[in-house]
Amino acid sequence: MRVLKFGGTSVGKPERMQHIAQLINDGVEKIVVLSAVSGTTNSLVEIHTAYKKEGKKAAHQLIDKLEAKYHPFIKDLYSENASIKKATALIKEKFDLLRSFKSKKFREADAKTILAQGELISTHLFLYYVQEIGLNATLIPALDFMKTTDGEPDLKFIAKKLRKTLVKSGKHQLYITQGYICMNEDEEIDNLRRGGSDYTATLIGGALPATEIQIWTDIDGMHNTDPRVVKDTFPIHELSFDEAAELAYFGAKILHPSCVLPAQKSGVPVKLLNTMEPTAKGTVISEIVTSTPQRVKAIAAKDGITAIKIKSSRMLNAYGFLKKIFEVFEDYQTSIDMLTTSEVAVSLTIDDDTNLKAITKALRAFSRIEIDKNQTIICVAGEFKHTEAGVAAKVINTLKEIPLRMISSGGSRSNISILVDSKYKVDAMNALNEGLFADILKKKRTK
Ligand code: ASP
Ligand code: MG
Repeated sequence: MRVLKFGGTSVGKPERMQHIAQLINDGVEKIVVLSAVSGTTNSLVEIHTAYKKEGKKAAHQLIDKLEAKYHPFIKDLYSENASIKKATALIKEKFDLLRSFKSKKFREADAKTILAQGELISTHLFLYYVQEIGLNATLIPALDFMKTTDGEPDLKFIAKKLRKTLVKSGKHQLYITQGYICMNEDEEIDNLRRGGSDYTATLIGGALPATEIQIWTDIDGMHNTDPRVVKDTFPIHELSFDEAAELAYFGAKILHPSCVLPAQKSGVPVKLLNTMEPTAKGTVISEIVTSTPQRVKAIAAKDGITAIKIKSSRMLNAYGFLKKIFEVFEDYQTSIDMLTTSEVAVSLTIDDDTNLKAITKALRAFSRIEIDKNQTIICVAGEFKHTEAGVAAKVINTLKEIPLRMISSGGSRSNISILVDSKYKVDAMNALNEGLFADILKKKRTK
């Protein structure tokens, strides 16, 4: 069995939905994971925020606006009246639900229920369409098998329940399901965080296990660096699971940061493919690399980082200092991304500064603190052996014109990370691209 995931833009317009229906219509059995129609989840965020902050009237205005987008969508998508009728009824049901919340005593669980409607709508609309054109398809509701406990996917439950759900649904060519949404341990609707449809796909693919997981987007696979920041980029055809995980974690927008692990655990290859160019090679992420040995593979960047320098006059020979620091971050459920240490100080970074004030206060109890906001982590991913010389030197040398706030290497074999002030990001990324991929770029440019 294959698992195919299509993102928001791939289902974002009626003609895109029709296009992917053709793309998957090859007679082979598959599970299709869909995101919400592009823009919908953002609107749903606005809606639940309005319920919380401005009240019912403001929320209802936003709901009307979103609903108005779906009516022309439905008209263009289907050719049969019966499908239009079914889809119209679905939209009415979902939007009635969105209107049913109360502003007073608005709960976090209500927000999650609102957020789930995007994928519930897109999957039903797609199901009605593929049924209209005669494909043998069924819906397997993600809320029946996708479950988290303490915010993490419950892998055993998912594997067991998924199998049961598939058996119960009978034999079909297409099994359509929602990305992103799940149930939590309190039996409430929840989600796998923004961009979580990729994660759904790899959780399903890992649980079965599938023969292959395909993530379909609208660019041709993972690029060597971010095409929005650097002009001259090129697609990478092969990545190891470790390299892909580093890149996704450190800012490559094409993949959800957690989604590599389930596939890696079960050894299921993940392909990143382009709906606009379905025959292009894309990127294969797997255990086995690589036909063309190349030590530096790709560069990603993550903005909005806060660096905290923690100084202690008594760090010299003091044990327990790091433990004390980590406990503070644990208390405030804030994860640390990068870490460097010296004799007298520790520098670390966080990407979520919701609790920064409280964290700073707690740290000040035993150290001196300096904070730098608006920082960017640049992650150079590749295959870096401890026994080989030159890679780090090359990376740093390439950045000789740029002030570097932190450098971290050796944490794993697949990553060297550098922290810079965000104002140097574009220059740093371009310098790295030109410096580290000079040979490939030269070949490309002379073609
Ligand atoms: N619809 C969700 C989002 O926009 C999940 C996803 O698209 O992966 O974040
Ligand atoms: Mg995505």
